[in-house]
Amino acid sequence: MAVLDAVELYRFFHIGDDETAALRGVSLSLDAGETVALVGPSGSGKSTLINCLTGLDEPDGGWVSINKERLTRRSETVRARLRARTFGIMLQSGNLFQHLTIEDNIMFQMQIAGKTDAKRVLSLLEAVGISHRGKSYPPTLSGGEIARAGLATVVAADPPILIADEPTAEVDAQTEELLFELFEHRKRTGLTTLLSTHSNALALHADRIIHIRDGRILDA
Ligand code: ADP
Repeated sequence: MAVLDAVELYRFFHIGDDETAALRGVSLSLDAGETVALVGPSGSGKSTLINCLTGLDEPDGGWVSINKERLTRRSETVRARLRARTFGIMLQSGNLFQHLTIEDNIMFQMQIAGKTDAKRVLSLLEAVGISHRGKSYPPTLSGGEIARAGLATVVAADPPILIADEPTAEVDAQTEELLFELFEHRKRTGLTTLLSTHSNALALHADRIIHIRDGRILDA
């Protein structure tokens, strides 16, 4: 069953007289429990598509729906509510609030989704190997620790759809392994994951690969 549908998405950007057609009629569906890789070279439209799928940006044409409820062209309040209930969004950086400890970052994410569980915070920290860093603030962590803390934060509330933008771009081999385990675990528990990547190695972990080029899906 589809948990997300995107139909004929168009997105144009204008700089002076120049127009970039970042999305040119993109349609796709994500089913419950599948891991899908969105593969395309830099500039092909992956980030623009992710922003439109999650309601962070509005497409100029087409629409997105979550469990048959339309996300596109709704008020920011409605989009924010749908986003909080549906998505975990993992960006290449900026996944943590700098003024909150790692534990509080994880807890906050759970609170937004209406799921508070202090025990889970500790088990997540353990799972990503940074139990000793729970009370630390992000600026005091190493790059690898930040990646692990971001990972724990984004999966804390078991979001029905996890969207990860180039998740292995900045991480060490061990964290990459953790990521793969986590995606496998989500698959087993019926949760959906969409990974954007230009790495074919990462795409091999997916059930399905969607290729994007010049704002068009080649093989949906
Ligand atoms: P990818 O994530 O695959 O690298 P993007 O979605 O970032 O691709 O970009 C797709 C195209 O849209 C590129 O040509 C990029 O330069 C352009 N683009 C993206 N965002 C903007 C923006 N805010 N303003 C102008 N052009 C943009």
